[in-house]
Amino acid sequence: MQRLKDRIALVTGSGAGIGRAVAKLFAEEGAHVYLTDIDGEAVTKAAEEHSAKGHAVTGMTVDVSKGQDVTALMRAIEQQHRRLDVVVNNAGINVRSDFRNMSDADWVRLREVNLDGIIRIARDAFPLLKASGRASLINMASIMGHRGMRTLAAYGATKGAISALTRGLAVEFGPYNIRVNALAPGFIETALTERVLRVKAFSDALLEQTPLNRFGTAEDVAMAALFLASDESAFITGAEIAVDGGMAAAL
Ligand code: NAD
Repeated sequence: MQRLKDRIALVTGSGAGIGRAVAKLFAEEGAHVYLTDIDGEAVTKAAEEHSAKGHAVTGMTVDVSKGQDVTALMRAIEQQHRRLDVVVNNAGINVRSDFRNMSDADWVRLREVNLDGIIRIARDAFPLLKASGRASLINMASIMGHRGMRTLAAYGATKGAISALTRGLAVEFGPYNIRVNALAPGFIETALTERVLRVKAFSDALLEQTPLNRFGTAEDVAMAALFLASDESAFITGAEIAVDGGMAAAL
């Protein structure tokens, strides 16, 4: 349908998992996608695959926790396109540990990527989003920002902060017609969850709490991102959409 025809879109952490699926769908829908990830090899591979299909993509190695990487990225977009229509602030990590034994280094890294990175991208993209005249910023939150689970307290804290940031930015950016929304995935089958979902007792218990009785796919999340990126959601800002098979609704 080419719902993003001629839009300029940035997807962080798009070398794998959800980000990769979002970048693929956006390119198929006609966007020029800036495909970025800390993993340079994954960026090169994904960019080559897109180019072979005739998609418009630019691949760049970007660590969202590094100010200089983000500055270079925004400068490149400014020089080539002078605007950004869609940003998917997706790059994120998890450090699973018993909260009582979490090291300072683990917490700092989690915060640097999941929170500082999201804030930096949103702040530095603002002039380019403003230049769009009808932009959409999508932050990747999580069901864990609203629910507690063992070993996920610190991760959940970064995600809850993203939900709050989303509402605040919707208010600040609204006058520039920049919509700001969040996606809150439940359990999606990617490298991030691969190890824990392999534990049968754990995954059975999760499925029991999931009304749709399956785990999500990266494509499930990408479809929701496409809705928030496109004009179909033109009057939606400050919202958070759960992509969780109903898990958050069930108690
Ligand atoms: P993933 O590990 O499969 O992919 C994450 C990608 O981000 C990787 O390509 C990785 O190299 C990249 N990345 C990591 N650190 C980075 C950095 N500093 N700068 C740039 N890129 C970086 O994970 P995923 O499951 O696709 O998760 C994507 C996002 O969705 C994350 O923000 C995650 O917290 C969120 N999320 C995932 C789930 C799930 O169940 N998988 C649930 C809720 C939220």
